[in-house]
Amino acid sequence: MGEELDRDRIVALDKKWVWRPYTEMSRYREQVDPLVIVRAHGSRLYDADGRSYLDANASWWTSVLGHSHPRLVAALQRQSEVLCHTALAGIAHGPAAELAERICEVAPRGLEHVFYSDNGSTAVEVAMKLALQYWEQNGGSERKCFVSLADAFHGETLGVTALGGLEVFRRPFEGALLDCFHLPSPADASGHEKSLTALGDLMSSRAECLAAVVVEPVVQGVAGMQIYDPEFLRGVRALCDANDVLLVCDEVFTGYGRTGPMWACEHADLAPDLLCTAKGFSGGMFPMAATLASERVFEGFLGAGERAFYYGHTFCGNPLGAAVALEVLRVFDDEAVLQGAAAKAARIREAFESLKGLPGVSRVRSKGMVGALDLEGAEGYLAEGGWRVYEEARRRGAYLRPLGNVVYVTPSLNIPDEDLDSLLEILCESVRAALDPGAAPR
Ligand SMILES: *Cc1c(COP(=O)(O)O)cnc(C)c1O
Repeated sequence: MGEELDRDRIVALDKKWVWRPYTEMSRYREQVDPLVIVRAHGSRLYDADGRSYLDANASWWTSVLGHSHPRLVAALQRQSEVLCHTALAGIAHGPAAELAERICEVAPRGLEHVFYSDNGSTAVEVAMKLALQYWEQNGGSERKCFVSLADAFHGETLGVTALGGLEVFRRPFEGALLDCFHLPSPADASGHEKSLTALGDLMSSRAECLAAVVVEPVVQGVAGMQIYDPEFLRGVRALCDANDVLLVCDEVFTGYGRTGPMWACEHADLAPDLLCTAKGFSGGMFPMAATLASERVFEGFLGAGERAFYYGHTFCGNPLGAAVALEVLRVFDDEAVLQGAAAKAARIREAFESLKGLPGVSRVRSKGMVGALDLEGAEGYLAEGGWRVYEEARRRGAYLRPLGNVVYVTPSLNIPDEDLDSLLEILCESVRAALDPGAAPR
């Protein structure tokens, strides 16, 4: 172990050298006192001053089994002693091969081929390129446009930015993006019919120019934990089938039991043509992602004449990540993680329901291991309200990063019951305190 840096030194180095994500740096340098985390274990983060925080967002939605699950650590260590990296181009190795079989066994039916990449954005980027190339070489060379949902978020690469519907992420790149139609939100209070009708109209007028519809199934995460009726997804699948348009489900956030079943598309009992997974895929231990494809899509790339998919990342199918991802699936089985999460999901639902009707709180909602509410006031990703709750929670020992005015929890699926109860108690107290600062002794 090297010499440990103290808190001040870490902050000084960070402020001098690190260009932070999603951050205006001059304000950060002058006004922000960052949370400095030195270790994490299970459902807790520990800061440089020795304080601990219950991790309400499972490390950016990745650590579905908690931080440093001993079996994942052991799998990583074992693999690191044998083979850390090798190209997947031209070389086969055990972890990637075995993982591909296992992930297809648990995937929605019909997804039988695994294309590896290394993060959620690239998993969706791969799906977009597969869709475009599929049509290019299978009699649909006019099909260059995509369809996505209002407020969609599918990652940060330039390709997937076109699918994105959130203004802050799109605006600087407007004019440099692929063509994409955005449907009205299916999570709208008035129901999903308007959104489905819009897709139907689009299909009638433009189907021959559509490559794929890309959706987050049932819960749109970054959009602010927007939950819609699985019936909408069934409608989308039917319209895609009727008009021969591919359906891509981005399960980067919703996969691995986040919404209840292993995959959120199971709520609608359907399978997409392409499914993207990352985040929970490697339990938050390693950058690792995969795009699963149906037989039909796979077959569209067979045969002579430059039909191969000329795409690959240096670290795709990395043995360390693959070994960890395999262990994640084994732990899901051995520790009956999905079954265990069902009871925890009920506790989350109850806690959020208890905040219903509180002045200043609206649209309380939950689905599986996601609970969310809106604070009234300014809307959108840049709204400040959630940060007041964040500060209250931080003082009480929980890390509750908001999405604008949306306060939510997405803990690890195996969070111990006592930790979950503490977290939910802190959530409730913090929301009340943020809405009524005078009434909150602490
Ligand atoms: C986080 C996320 C992505 C992007 O994943 P990265 O690993 O951050 O590139 C894509 N889609 C969804 C639904 C996400 O939540």
